[in-house]
Amino acid sequence: MKSKVRYEPTIGLEIHCELRTNSKMFCGCPANHFGKTPNTQTCPVCLGLPGALPVPNRKAVEWTIMVGLALNSTINPESKFDRKHYFYPDLPKGYQISQYDEPLCFGGFLATSSGKVGITRVHLEEDTGKLQHTQLDGQKVSLVDFNRSGVALIEIVTDPDIHSASQAKEYSQKLQNIIRFLGVSDCDMEKGSMRLEANISWGLGLGYKVEVKNLNSFRFVEKAIDYELKRQKQILETGETPRQETRGWSEKTNTTMTQRYKETAADYRYFPEPDIPPMEFSKEFIARIRKTLPELPQTLVERLVKQLKVRGDYAEILVSDKNLLSFFEKALEIAGKSQIGADVLAGYLVNSKVDIAKTSPEIFISLLHKQKSEKVSDISLIDTWVKEALENFPDAVTDFKQGKTNAISALIGYVMKVSKGKADAVLARDMIEKSLKKS
Ligand code: ZN
Ligand code: MN
Repeated sequence: MKSKVRYEPTIGLEIHCELRTNSKMFCGCPANHFGKTPNTQTCPVCLGLPGALPVPNRKAVEWTIMVGLALNSTINPESKFDRKHYFYPDLPKGYQISQYDEPLCFGGFLATSSGKVGITRVHLEEDTGKLQHTQLDGQKVSLVDFNRSGVALIEIVTDPDIHSASQAKEYSQKLQNIIRFLGVSDCDMEKGSMRLEANISWGLGLGYKVEVKNLNSFRFVEKAIDYELKRQKQILETGETPRQETRGWSEKTNTTMTQRYKETAADYRYFPEPDIPPMEFSKEFIARIRKTLPELPQTLVERLVKQLKVRGDYAEILVSDKNLLSFFEKALEIAGKSQIGADVLAGYLVNSKVDIAKTSPEIFISLLHKQKSEKVSDISLIDTWVKEALENFPDAVTDFKQGKTNAISALIGYVMKVSKGKADAVLARDMIEKSLKKS
């Protein structure tokens, strides 16, 4: 009997983040390679010279365990490093020191608004060098810079639990936020210290998956997944099965294209790294690391809502950005004895769109006091502006109704603009929300 295949977007993500340790993973070279003169931060170990021996970075191991704990993973009491072989000049040894069957952490989950995403594993490895394909004296050349070679890199792999492009984006953003809260990586996608890869298919039963690399922004993740799902669907509709392969995302053409046909684990010829003894972790050691975990985003949101009575969606916005959150906390401290409560403060910070990089919490609070005395809270006046906003931004209205709640900021922005910043932003937001829900 033919088994029935359910067609459903089935997506798993593999995310690499460079740890911000002082030194590299297996040698004493500085790990901060960004913008440094090529090949000035290398040594026999990270150049893979014969006889050089790797020594694991203890901090990197501890930080990987921290990430695992923050993602509800189980910490492996026994772990080890393995050699992963492939032939490419960004890797001088001919293999990468990674982890195969005994990763530091396995299992766990990260909650998104459309369901929990299971974590398969969190492991530790070394980053590769960087190739630059360019022209030198009129000749096409490939240059290699080993400053990044050997930098500590964590890889976080999810189960194929993600079912839409927007969920993939939400997961990636939440993961970035958690890791930034832990302070173990900058997770800067522009600088390449956070890199995303997606495995995409229309169902596990179909026997293929397509890996898409080179996704260096959250927007590209969304676009590439949507593009791939469409491309694969067209193939499936003709009765064919899409080819199992690795594709790259091109931001120029907004398409994915074949890079290579996917290797299997066997091609990597994994075996235990003979130069590094296996690791063992006691319960006490893991408990000590657990104690160092800071308050994580989800708990913080709950605390802001319960203790400080901040509106849920405002709390989410504040916590989604570590800098914004600390700005809020400082402003709250300064506001302390005055009349401004945490909920009002959060409302202003979210709605008035102050550029926190250009102002201080002190200035923000004094402006708030000033605004409070000049503020327009006249409901009929604000109502006129709200009506104008809805008329002038029909797209924002449609977007909001389709669930893109962020679209509201364009409408609030309009009211603040026509009122020269004097409209009560919190009141304006409430009124816009009410009109949108009514209309
Ligand atoms: Zn080195
Ligand atoms: Mn990897």
